[in-house]
Amino acid sequence: MSARTGILYLVSGPSGSGKTTLCRRLSDEGEASYAISCTTRPPRPGETDGLDYFFLSVDAFKDKIANGDFLEYAEVHGNFYGTLVSEVINKLEQGTDVVLDIDVQGAAQVRASNHPIIKNSLVDIFIMPPSEEELLKRLSGRGTDSQEVIATRMKNSLEEMEHWPKYSFRIVSGTHEEDYTYFKALLHGERLRISRHHDTPA
Ligand code: 5GP
Repeated sequence: MSARTGILYLVSGPSGSGKTTLCRRLSDEGEASYAISCTTRPPRPGETDGLDYFFLSVDAFKDKIANGDFLEYAEVHGNFYGTLVSEVINKLEQGTDVVLDIDVQGAAQVRASNHPIIKNSLVDIFIMPPSEEELLKRLSGRGTDSQEVIATRMKNSLEEMEHWPKYSFRIVSGTHEEDYTYFKALLHGERLRISRHHDTPA
């Protein structure tokens, strides 16, 4: 197989669409490197700093903005979230596929990037919950968020869902196994794209 640059696999979808689980599984199975984001939201029970997120104070997050450390950042559900350049660019250059689990605002910033490796490597996918009822069920069933947080997330999720036409691919969520099969198939298909391979004549 010829050498190729990495694929930037950008995944959005409302909270409760199951996208984080899909992205994590891709990474756990060694298919892609999960870009760990920075956030100012407090850790949920069971979350580990440096593994799930880099949990930062608002001041520390703002310092990183000022230093130009972020590829993109956005305020989501009342907290800041951002993707570090260091989690993405070098890996893509080395041929590692990178998976980004980010919201629709962050996706718009990545799409608008003029960085050549970002432009050439981006594959954006929207994970759609099957219905509003199922979304509410999944958000409530998580068991770690308060009623107020669930209500904010439900409202934001419905707004976020209107953005799916901006993406190249959409997966309407079924069972986790069905979703993962499509999800992985898309990545494997993209790896075969001739333009990604270094032996392609100019
Ligand atoms: P959660 O708090 O449930 O982990 O994530 C809330 C939302 O923030 C999700 O839609 C998630 O995709 C998004 N998110 C996580 N990391 C980032 C990031 O680095 N940048 C942006 N723009 N959104 C992110």
